[in-house]
Amino acid sequence: MARDVHDKYWNPDIETMSKDEMAALQLKKLKKQLVYNYNNSLLYRRKFEEAGMKPEDVRSFEDFQRIPVTNKSEQIETQEESLKELGHPFGPGTITCAPQDKIVRLNATSGTTGTPTLYALTQHDIDIMNELQGRRLWMVGIRPGHRILQGLSLSMFAGGLPLSQGIMHMGACAVPVGAESGTKRVLEFINLTRPHALFTTPSFAQYLLEQCPKLIGKPASELGLQWLFPVGEPGAGNIEVRKLLSKGYGGVHICDQTGGAHSGQGEECLEPPEVYSGMHWTAPDYCLLELVDPKTKKNIAMKDGAIGEQVMTFLDWEGTPFQRYAYADLLQVFTEPCICGRTGIRFKIIGRADDLLIVKGVNVFPEAIKKEILKFTPRVTGFFRIVLDKPGPAVTPPLKVKIEYGHGMQQNDIKMLEEEMLKSFKEVVRVTPQFMWVPPESLPRESKKTKLIEILSS
Ligand SMILES: [Zn+2]
Repeated sequence: MARDVHDKYWNPDIETMSKDEMAALQLKKLKKQLVYNYNNSLLYRRKFEEAGMKPEDVRSFEDFQRIPVTNKSEQIETQEESLKELGHPFGPGTITCAPQDKIVRLNATSGTTGTPTLYALTQHDIDIMNELQGRRLWMVGIRPGHRILQGLSLSMFAGGLPLSQGIMHMGACAVPVGAESGTKRVLEFINLTRPHALFTTPSFAQYLLEQCPKLIGKPASELGLQWLFPVGEPGAGNIEVRKLLSKGYGGVHICDQTGGAHSGQGEECLEPPEVYSGMHWTAPDYCLLELVDPKTKKNIAMKDGAIGEQVMTFLDWEGTPFQRYAYADLLQVFTEPCICGRTGIRFKIIGRADDLLIVKGVNVFPEAIKKEILKFTPRVTGFFRIVLDKPGPAVTPPLKVKIEYGHGMQQNDIKMLEEEMLKSFKEVVRVTPQFMWVPPESLPRESKKTKLIEILSS
């Protein structure tokens, strides 16, 4: 498809398709994909058997919803069984459906907890990923001629090689520096190559802000960046994080993007209303989204404002297609059309279903704590850890929060600040935490995903 730099959409047919037409396209692709999954994965075949169904019994989305969900631990278990029995992790018992001689790339989740889940991709799948990256970057105004510096882990994770390929595919210029090369080198390469956009985790972006004047002798606001993609962990959906980063990088445009395994769904468009209104689901023709109750796994209707656990089914994929895969992210969806003209749904990530903490019956997500803490910068640095005596979700109060006070704060200032913060926490988060104050820059900064929770007993 020949595109002009002034074109508004990367793929206008899909991005502005009517809801009914999209649903019909999804159902058609779904039926075909289910036959493929049934024939190539014993795990998926078992799901059909549990529901007493065959792929040809699926005539509607309602029929489809009778098939039990698949979860990450099933993926890992079957991956490990295959490794033991066959000497590789892609046997017929797993969710990998393509024969090995068609697999040309492996991706993985970052695996911050436990075994990484692997995704095998065929060339066909890589072409899809590139198409989806094209839609997302184009949406925010990235065009050929723009340089994009990759300040995430440069590897098999979504922000590594897959992102490099996606950037190159859409015609922009990838600058694959990588977070592992270190803070100084990332900053030096920004200074040297003058990228228009930077991909990094929100916490690393925050750290770069802090270190920039020290390491390259000028503030981050003078780096000349036009776009910042704080990705890979929650943050860009957090209004306080956005304000902090946007200001720190000289009024840069903050773009929330999510990869979600390898299906490339989310990007925020350039024309959101005043407040953050979520990301567009950019892959409706390649990934069917459902919401379910996190406990019962029963479907929740996709009405405007609905919240539920994200369940994904890939459409037209070969390697490792998800089938009703419960992803443990809690999403809120918005079905009203966007002013940018895109017709599909938008969504916000509310939290990880498994990060949920329950303090005296009150549901608390670490992101909510972060949002509240950031309101008090620069009297706090914004870096903190939630400290648990044992793994959640149930927390015996008080909720302990190790938190850095800001530079130049005296004992008395901290005392006053704490009173103010406790009042605000009680009102907004509805819990009264116990703050454990530590000096600025004493908590570890990580260039990869920062764990906001620290568990003492493990
Ligand atoms: Zn939009």
